[in-house]
Amino acid sequence: MPRGSPSPSPSGPGQRLRSGRRPVGLRAPILVGFLALGLIAGAIGYVGVRNVSLTYDIAARAYDNAVIATSYARAAQADFVALEAMLARDGRAPGASSAAPGGRFAALAEQVEGDLAIVRERAQSAETRAALEAALALFARWRRAAEQADDGAPIAALSAEMREALDVVVNHIAGDAFRAERAARAQVGVIREAGAAATAIGLILGALVAWLLGRRILGPVAAASAAARGIAAGRLDTPIPAAGGDELGALLRAMATMRDNIRAMMEREVAARRSAQGRLVDAIEGSREGVMLVDGDGRIVIANRQVAAFLPAAAALLAPGTPAEALARAAGLDLAAEEAELRTADGRWLRVARSPVHDGGFVLVLSDITALKRQQAALEEANLRFDAALNNMSQGLCLYDSEHRLLVANRRFYEIYRLDPEVVRPGITFRDLLMQSIAAGNHSPAVTETLVRERLGFVARGEPGTSFQDLADGRVIAISHEPIPGGHWVVTYEDITERRRAEAQITYLARHDGLTGLANRLLLRERVDHALAQCARGGHCALLALDLDGFRAVNESLGHPAGDQVLRQVAERLRACVRETDSVARLGGDEFAVVQTGLERGEDAAALARRVIAAFAKPFVVEGQTVELGASVGIALAPRDGATHDALLSHAQLALELCRRERRGAFRFFEPEMDAAAQRRRALEADLKQALEREEFQAAYQPIVELASGRVVGFEALLRWRHPARGMVSPVEFIPVAEELGLIVPIGAWMLRRACADAAAWPDGIRVAVNVSAVQFRDPNLVATVATALADSGLPASRLEIEITESLLLEDEAATGALLHRLRGLGVRIAMDDFGTGYSSLGYLRSFPFDKIKIDQSFIRDLDSKPDSRAIVRAIAALGRSLGMRTTAEGVETGAVLEILRTEGCTEAQGYLFSRPCAAERVPALLSTLAQRRIPANAAAA
Ligand code: C2E
Ligand code: MG
Ligand code: MG
Repeated sequence: MPRGSPSPSPSGPGQRLRSGRRPVGLRAPILVGFLALGLIAGAIGYVGVRNVSLTYDIAARAYDNAVIATSYARAAQADFVALEAMLARDGRAPGASSAAPGGRFAALAEQVEGDLAIVRERAQSAETRAALEAALALFARWRRAAEQADDGAPIAALSAEMREALDVVVNHIAGDAFRAERAARAQVGVIREAGAAATAIGLILGALVAWLLGRRILGPVAAASAAARGIAAGRLDTPIPAAGGDELGALLRAMATMRDNIRAMMEREVAARRSAQGRLVDAIEGSREGVMLVDGDGRIVIANRQVAAFLPAAAALLAPGTPAEALARAAGLDLAAEEAELRTADGRWLRVARSPVHDGGFVLVLSDITALKRQQAALEEANLRFDAALNNMSQGLCLYDSEHRLLVANRRFYEIYRLDPEVVRPGITFRDLLMQSIAAGNHSPAVTETLVRERLGFVARGEPGTSFQDLADGRVIAISHEPIPGGHWVVTYEDITERRRAEAQITYLARHDGLTGLANRLLLRERVDHALAQCARGGHCALLALDLDGFRAVNESLGHPAGDQVLRQVAERLRACVRETDSVARLGGDEFAVVQTGLERGEDAAALARRVIAAFAKPFVVEGQTVELGASVGIALAPRDGATHDALLSHAQLALELCRRERRGAFRFFEPEMDAAAQRRRALEADLKQALEREEFQAAYQPIVELASGRVVGFEALLRWRHPARGMVSPVEFIPVAEELGLIVPIGAWMLRRACADAAAWPDGIRVAVNVSAVQFRDPNLVATVATALADSGLPASRLEIEITESLLLEDEAATGALLHRLRGLGVRIAMDDFGTGYSSLGYLRSFPFDKIKIDQSFIRDLDSKPDSRAIVRAIAALGRSLGMRTTAEGVETGAVLEILRTEGCTEAQGYLFSRPCAAERVPALLSTLAQRRIPANAAAA
């Protein structure tokens, strides 16, 4: 109920209508009024009727008297004429007899007298009566005269008199009639007047009664009627007069109450409607949709602000009363369509929905669906992408609903199962699809039932999982089930035939040596473990470690491909030596191992070792060349020499090492004493780990002399380890261990810092050369370490030289090259150390433009006694010259050697001849000593 609208309460006007005194009845006054009017009408009528009858009486009497008197007067005249005639005929009164009573004359005479008497009775006036008296008296005289008459003379006079008298009578009667008529007229006039007066009075009384009735009844009735009409016409302000306590008063009061009630109801209704309408308008205005109402004539009734916002170009056409068509034309709206989409000038998308309303008009609702459109477009795009992705997947994919009906399948799926795309339609059940796959011959008929049971079981479990399916044609399919929320599930199919093959290959390669097909270290470990497990149950096994003698020479002389061929042949021969239960492994390079199981005694292992060694008696032939190889064998027996693979292998290798040191081409059993050497090494490792922390390292510097000028141009920094117990440990001994343990990285970094710091104190132009191990090149921070050492010491980069060995270039050539270039980028020089040892290849010189080649001291040492060394030195010096690299000869101990080097064109020399490596503090003194010695000049003399 709207707020503020009066509620029809029990105490309202409706209630007042029923309360109050009982109104006075109206019937009594109305009855009295009508009775009075009836009486008045009756009285008027009675007066009228009486007047008419009075008038009639007057007229009749006047008429009667006049006519009768006239008639009788005429009759008396006629009879007198007849008497005169009878007298004239007889001359006299006919005899006494005739005049006698009973005679005709007498009768007539009497008749005249009678007539006159009647006339006299009816005479109206005294003159008439006097004339009649006179006539009667004359007639009596005339009759007597007539009856007595003797002569005729007197009678005639009387007759004349008589006639005259009769005429007078008639005249008088006529006069009477006239007077009577006048009198009647006068009388009627009076009656008329009276009647009119009575009527007037009646009318006045009637009018009075009517006025009284009207005042009491009609007025209020008319007022009530007018009020009722007014109310009926909706004029609720119609005044209703106050009235008395009678029924009409009650009626008027009731009407007033009724009017008030109606007004209150109307006000309530209007208020309710107004608030509803207000709310409707508010709702329409506040709507995010554009709302426009169009009436049956196609004119706009209302259009909210949003319509204007949506259609700014047509905003001027939104006023109420504007034809909607005009708006439609301006805005490009289709008013006929029930639903349409519209692209606005500002790029928005609108949905225009049209709903009819009862008056023939319609409501247009404009909704902004730009976001929806964008989403739709994005969705379509996503769908397209999804389709593209789906159909370009390398995996087959099927999506099923909760009833195991196919929703989506991609192309790869039916390609894998070679199914007709027409069959793989959405809606097909998982089972039917499986049947199709069986029909397509993917599965052997023998396994059909198992397959169906297994696949359906998989689906029924509704758990994610992967299974593998072997198809009839040998392909392997990995099938992954993945339930998704809502009971759906997705299956992916991947043809893993190739992967399986590759995996098998990888597994094989992971456990086998790629070159020879023999077991590798990994598989060897497994085999050894297996054999050891057997030994644990009783019995023995042996591990034989093999090393080829002379193989390096093959590699170096014939090249790696030939070396590989030899290794393959070696593998073949080894395989031929062992039983099926034994295994041969290649541990790398020219190292091999054999696991021998089911041993009865140690002699069995020795027999196998002999067989192996004998297998090398026959030379190998590769690329038409004959290659002589031997084999050394170290044997460890289990469980005697070790209960683990590692122990067994290291012991077999220790035995091998010793064998190789003592007598190649033979075999040796492991002996516990061999382990002592290994233990020493372990102790060395332990000490080395702490040496840096304990500051046991030192740097020694050995000068490098330029041969042309005889000046010291630099020093090589050489690492020294002063161990508290061991004394001075040679770098040749501990550097390989530090490399193996990775300790060379921090030790090398220390050396770089130390050398740079020391060199920074030396005179300008004196360089320092620092040896950098191949292992340090695997350290990603090497360049940063060098840069920091330079920066911290303030040594110019051009005064630092880094010496690397050829073995470094054996590793990842490209990566090493890049690193060397980065070091060179710092301004540091790069020297190749120990050139001529190891796997010297001229190609290495081409791979990086070294600044210097250091010729290994093995060529220098006997330079004066070995002509081939001299030839090599000459060649290297020439090579250096042509490549623009300086050449430094290491290990120059004598002046003779120095002389040869000078002759052969070496540019620099280093060796005990000039100085042994010395402590940093001694460098300045050494520099001045050497400057005084003027090496080139004195060398020959020395
Ligand atoms: P290298 O780099 O070829 O160093 C030259 C070696 O020859 C030094 O041995 C040096 O003392 C020795 N030598 C110099 N002149 C003569 C001579 O006239 N006669 C003889 N017989 N020897 C001479 P050292 O100091 O024992 O160093 C051995 C090797 O240890 C070095 O050979 C180098 O490869 C390595 N080494 C030394 N210090 C370091 C270092 O700081 N880092 C790395 N990675 N290796 C180092
Ligand atoms: Mg060196
Ligand atoms: Mg060297």
